[in-house]
Amino acid sequence: MKMARGKFGDFGGRFANEILMPVLIELEEAFDKIYPTPEFQDELKNLLENYGGRPTPLYHAESFSELVGCKVYLKREDLVNGGSHKLNNTLGQAHLAKRMGKTRLITETAAGMHGVATVMAGNACGLETEVFMGAQDIKRQASNVKRMKLLGAKVTPVNIGSGVLKDAVSDTLREWTSCSRTTHYLMGSTVGPHPFPEIVATFQSVIGEEIKKQMLEKEGRPPNAIIACGSGGSNAIGAFRPFVDNEKVRLYFVEGGGEHLDADSSAAAFQLGKPGVIHGALMQTLQDEHGQIKPSKTRSAGLNYPARGPEISHLCKTGRVKACYAFDEEVFEAVKVMARNEGLIPALETGHAIAYMLNHKDEFSEDEVVVLNYSGRGDKDLETILRYFENEAWRKI
Ligand SMILES: *Cc1c(COP(=O)(O)O)cnc(C)c1O
Repeated sequence: MKMARGKFGDFGGRFANEILMPVLIELEEAFDKIYPTPEFQDELKNLLENYGGRPTPLYHAESFSELVGCKVYLKREDLVNGGSHKLNNTLGQAHLAKRMGKTRLITETAAGMHGVATVMAGNACGLETEVFMGAQDIKRQASNVKRMKLLGAKVTPVNIGSGVLKDAVSDTLREWTSCSRTTHYLMGSTVGPHPFPEIVATFQSVIGEEIKKQMLEKEGRPPNAIIACGSGGSNAIGAFRPFVDNEKVRLYFVEGGGEHLDADSSAAAFQLGKPGVIHGALMQTLQDEHGQIKPSKTRSAGLNYPARGPEISHLCKTGRVKACYAFDEEVFEAVKVMARNEGLIPALETGHAIAYMLNHKDEFSEDEVVVLNYSGRGDKDLETILRYFENEAWRKI
């Protein structure tokens, strides 16, 4: 049975007020019309290859493979211009916005990676950019804020709520209703009202399409498993989509476990949350006993969002994707293991997928080939990582 557009099982939909509704419909129609055209496809391909650096390598990490006891390939999204998978989506949407006749982009960001990727894409496509960012996150991610400013973006702090990503999303949606004629809201993950989850998933699927091709070249077959970290789910869905119908490929989604598995110190919405409407769609969300959205908690800013996008929510609920988590402490250790063994410093977000493999070796057997979607590099997290190990050293004295 074909599902209604924008619905993933029970999840998704378009819960928007009457001002936003026509804007979302305009975007949906423009995407349907413009995306399939050869001109759009050619220009996007050119941008992804020559500006973004695609295709990214699929790297056989031999030392790490030895550690976990199966053959592991890293899909190197850290090598995309800007240092993460985010540019795949921002180039796609910026290019679409330009084709729609928009002159300006607005967006929100947590770790700052999406903000940087949006300004880069905006500049590459000749559009102005304004980035809304939680006041807390501005402090935590100073180097990305500097980068955005150098690139010419206006960075606007959001002080409502607890000053993190979920508050910035609410503020940006509000801003969009007043300026949508000239401005495109560049949603950063597979979340929000339809058509955003579909648009972002389409642009990120380039990851999975490349994995499929590269696996055929290197191994002559699809992988036994793909493992990805995430919050909204864009890097995971991008990697998973071309394999969802192949039940032989196991799919693992690792969210932020935070400090402990309780709702006051975690971001693990699949373990602790339930379905609820947030930011225009029905998604798996962290909530308190009254059904109010509960702020998430994790040391990894990019995973610090209380909801999982509709598509990953559906895939986890139906059991097609295994919902997993890793705790902050395990993630810091995993970052160190990857640095020492492979000479790669992963983003804390990516560290979740690495930690899961290191701590669940029994789930992967010797003859298996596993793709770990290596979503980003850790330069932005350097301070946080070093501070963690300094404190650790203190504790051990
Ligand atoms: C933003 C980010 C994520 C999480 O976002 P998703 O939309 O769930 O993919 C993961 N890894 C890195 C490196 C990021 O920057």
